[in-house]
Amino acid sequence: MKLKRKIIYPAMKIIRDEITFTTKGNNEIKDLTGPVDQRLAASRMKNGIVILFVPGSTAGLTTIEYESGLLKDLDLALERLIPSDHAYEHDRRWGDGNGHAHLRHALIGPSLTIPFNEGKLELGTWQQIVFIDFDNRPRTRKVILQFIGE
Ligand code: ZN
Repeated sequence: MKLKRKIIYPAMKIIRDEITFTTKGNNEIKDLTGPVDQRLAASRMKNGIVILFVPGSTAGLTTIEYESGLLKDLDLALERLIPSDHAYEHDRRWGDGNGHAHLRHALIGPSLTIPFNEGKLELGTWQQIVFIDFDNRPRTRKVILQFIGE
């Protein structure tokens, strides 16, 4: 039998890193673009993708133009879509009052993938990486980064 496998990327590496920080909860939005840039520089990788993932079911990751008007608009849009004062089944069952936070997490999602080229994240000029804490109390959070490339 002939072997058809070939190595396309002989120098590929995977580097794991993480960013830890505290939040106030209640839709606090943190700009993670700077920290992710710093970790990319530290990895010394030039081309590939970075996967960001939040372990936890009451926070999310997305990108947005990080300016105060839009941050307020996002906060208000989430409140309209998934109100914090609704009587959720999760709250009836567990009494932790954060049913809205779990639903917002499910809507926004726990991860992002961003390509990088020549050592630079390929984000738009007005596109920042943001972490949103939907929970109803202050938290210590961790975002896991995996750089895959060369
Ligand atoms: Zn809960």
